[in-house]
Amino acid sequence: MATLPHSASGIAAAVAAREISAREVIDEHLSRISEREGDIHAFNLVTADAARAHADAIDADIAAGKSVGPLAGVPIAIKDNMCTHGIETTCSSKILEGWKPPYNATVVSRLHAAGAVNIGKTNLDEFAMGSSTENSANGPTRNPLDISRVPGGSSGGSAAAVAAGFSPVSLGSDTGGSIRQPAALCGIVGVKPTYGLVSRYGLIAYASSLDQIGPFAHNVADAALITEVIAGHDPMDSTSIPQPAPSLVASVGQGVAGMRIGRVVDLPEGAEPEVTARLNEAFEALKDAGATIVDVKLPSLSYALTAYYLIAPAEASSNLARFDGVRYGLRVNAPDTNAMYGATRAAGFGDEVKRRIMLGTYALSAGYYDAYYGKALKVRKLIAQDFENAYKQVDAILTPTSPVVAFKFGDKVDDPMSMYLCDIYTIPTNLAGHPAMSVPFGTGAHDLPVGIQVLAPALGESAMFRVGGELERAAGGAK
Ligand code: GLN
Repeated sequence: MATLPHSASGIAAAVAAREISAREVIDEHLSRISEREGDIHAFNLVTADAARAHADAIDADIAAGKSVGPLAGVPIAIKDNMCTHGIETTCSSKILEGWKPPYNATVVSRLHAAGAVNIGKTNLDEFAMGSSTENSANGPTRNPLDISRVPGGSSGGSAAAVAAGFSPVSLGSDTGGSIRQPAALCGIVGVKPTYGLVSRYGLIAYASSLDQIGPFAHNVADAALITEVIAGHDPMDSTSIPQPAPSLVASVGQGVAGMRIGRVVDLPEGAEPEVTARLNEAFEALKDAGATIVDVKLPSLSYALTAYYLIAPAEASSNLARFDGVRYGLRVNAPDTNAMYGATRAAGFGDEVKRRIMLGTYALSAGYYDAYYGKALKVRKLIAQDFENAYKQVDAILTPTSPVVAFKFGDKVDDPMSMYLCDIYTIPTNLAGHPAMSVPFGTGAHDLPVGIQVLAPALGESAMFRVGGELERAAGGAK
């Protein structure tokens, strides 16, 4: 077998040129999974047989001279909150145990059409609520760089799958940071696209006004390629932007000469000193590459976390009401219907999910709606206005992705507030609906990776990928 390229684009090119077969690519990744998955636990389910069969079909198409897509033969791991037809989809919750969706999420169909091979469903914090993957009903995922530490969350399985070499790319979902934070903690690239750029059809909802699907990859160009494939209008999602997918890969190599990059002067404190040091070096690198650094103010940012922990649970309390033992997964039998609902939900949901349903139901209840949910929506508006003002002066903004590097298991589980603070820099973009990405940029405490976050205005993916590409170059080049 020819050497296996590291990047998704390299694998697709080698498969299309018949230098390597799609089957060999899959077999190599499956063998890496069997070597290390016992330690890492990135997957809820590895779909080995289906993946081999799909790879064989791609090889047959290529042998028959048929045209294949831009991701032909590229293994991809899918977060287990995206529907896969006939394949168990659990959100890492007991309440969905055994549920097999009758349809594919739009992103899954688009990846399939592009020739990508689904290799499995990845572990997550139950219903995507968490920052460490410790809230999974199936047990935690471990960080491939140090298995005594968390991979971040909630898309920890998808991040770990890429970092461990189980698949060159994967999909996650990001409601408050769940792609960018685990990407930072695992030393890879993670992208949250503009709200509405990627269809949410078939993504099991956590907080619908914030949720977005995006890729993990080893390098910025692969992340751009996957974004291109999954983006673009979908009539099945009423919030989908009615525009075709933008072309983004070309932006990655364009450099930042002439760009204006924002430094947030009133950024909430709390980042580890090494993280702040890497951020300063990132600004220097962009300056050296011809960008201008401009100070911007985002005064409402310090309220973002509070607003998010009202808005997201409020939406979750409504979205998760559908899991009642009638239509999906688990049912705990009881003498009457109400008792059945109660018993099913008590047994099916984990502690964090219950905490959020209660928080959200409280925030939405008559008498408290204006004081909590209504106020949080006003803060959301102020944050959007702050960004709007900032983007009159700059093309993109840099912040840390996570205030801390990967932490040890158990460090934050007993203190929800300290866990929530992991998302202090990622949440504002979700509230604004903007794109953002995390790019690995050196290391921090314990030699663990630090991620720098690039933020851009709505549909500013092209500027975002230019900056991301430059940071990658400055940090030693594409992997
Ligand atoms: N960690 C945040 C939360 O627990 C964000 C999760 C996410 O983006 N899905 O809500």
